[in-house]
Amino acid sequence: MKTKIVATVGPACSSAAMLKKMIFAGVDVFRLNFSHANYDEFERIIKDIHDLNKKLETHVAILADLQGPKIRIGELAPEGVFLKDGQTIRFTTDKSQVAEDKIFISYQNFPKDVKAGETILLDDGKMILRISRTDGKTEVAAKVINGGLLTSRKGVNLPNTRLSLPSLSEKDKEDVRFIMDHNFDWVALSFVRVTSDIEGLISMMNSYSPDHRIPVIAKIEKPEAVKNIDSIIQAAHGVMVARGDLGVEIPLQNVPMIQKMIVKKCLAHAKPVIIATQMMEGMLTNPRPTRAEVNDVANSVMDGADALMLSGETSVGKYPAETVETMQKIISEVEQYDGIYHKNHVPVIKNNLHFISDSIIYSGCNVAREAKAKAIVSVASSGYSTAKISSHRPKATIFGFANNNAILRRLNLLWGVKPVFFDRYFHTDQTINDLIAELRQKGLVQSGDLLVHISNMPINQPGKSNMLKLGYVE
Ligand code: PGA
Ligand code: MN
Repeated sequence: MKTKIVATVGPACSSAAMLKKMIFAGVDVFRLNFSHANYDEFERIIKDIHDLNKKLETHVAILADLQGPKIRIGELAPEGVFLKDGQTIRFTTDKSQVAEDKIFISYQNFPKDVKAGETILLDDGKMILRISRTDGKTEVAAKVINGGLLTSRKGVNLPNTRLSLPSLSEKDKEDVRFIMDHNFDWVALSFVRVTSDIEGLISMMNSYSPDHRIPVIAKIEKPEAVKNIDSIIQAAHGVMVARGDLGVEIPLQNVPMIQKMIVKKCLAHAKPVIIATQMMEGMLTNPRPTRAEVNDVANSVMDGADALMLSGETSVGKYPAETVETMQKIISEVEQYDGIYHKNHVPVIKNNLHFISDSIIYSGCNVAREAKAKAIVSVASSGYSTAKISSHRPKATIFGFANNNAILRRLNLLWGVKPVFFDRYFHTDQTINDLIAELRQKGLVQSGDLLVHISNMPINQPGKSNMLKLGYVE
């Protein structure tokens, strides 16, 4: 299995026994969604995952997903409010003004930022309203275009409005502290619009603890992010195609080609990319996915995604482990198909600080392909080389070695990478033999297997890859 699986943790799978079952079913990364944060419960889950990693000798990563500037309506009567087509509804930012036909909205500048004619989408776009007027202070009136039953705390999307909301809310800031204190491996930021959103999160983490960096995944779910995709991919350490909100904020039919465009660009920049939302939605309540879902999972693998994500399917669904197993089966079937391998990224030589390692990796992946090598062995100090090797999508297994469990868990998100712990690095020849012995001892390679080694030389010092070796396991 090359393509990784990210599973959202929730009541349906959060017991230690279920987490273990999920790891056996094929989960590589667990996502903790801070939209539903419960610090005590999260602490227990993190400890259980780390204990399981120790016991099972796995490197399952934990991804924190920050809510970001999500807008919601307030509490409504328990039976909800039915919005009739053609009716005018009022929204208020002033809690004391809330009435039966005046709904609270959690966005103070809402009346200042919107203009008449703009669209309000409620509950994942199920209801559509058009703004008729705003008083510029606390109140906005909107006409219902597409009505329905609205219930408490549903999400609000404003696809045409330029929001003045900060990219990190007060709640996010508190969550970041928790995330920094609890050894998360990746942190995802929702509703990214521009690179400064990502830079803001990075500098906040730096100010809190300069030598404890958590790599950031930019969730692409706003039209502005799609427009700024090139700079966002460069600024972030990874990307998520967050199709849930994206499909509300832009026309649904645009999502498939945007997914393909983003995956392609991420591969070219060697940044991991996750495809998210409704991949196996039918399995929330059914033991089998729909044919369309099977095709969606298969197509996302063919597009070249690093990882596929499950949300409600694993957090609140009826069949969390079965969903992962089914996804795993689809992935391994599609991976029999040659078309997904060997993306040749010809190294850029001019003005490229990484040109030596990029050239070594490019050649190493070509050698692995031509010689039909069993595996590529990479020693990671930062993870750059291993990510770069992964971006070539070699058919050979990538063994990513490191002497640090945090790096190994981070690598576990990357396509095709099997992380291996090793902490005795001496001079280069000896260490290469030691790494092979370690792989043999773990039953991961056998005598006669052909291996490509990519590392820096001297191997026991941090540095960029500059060495390529081809050899058999004795
Ligand atoms: P969410 O993000 O589940 O946190 O909303 C994913 C998406 O919007 O697709
Ligand atoms: Mn979202």
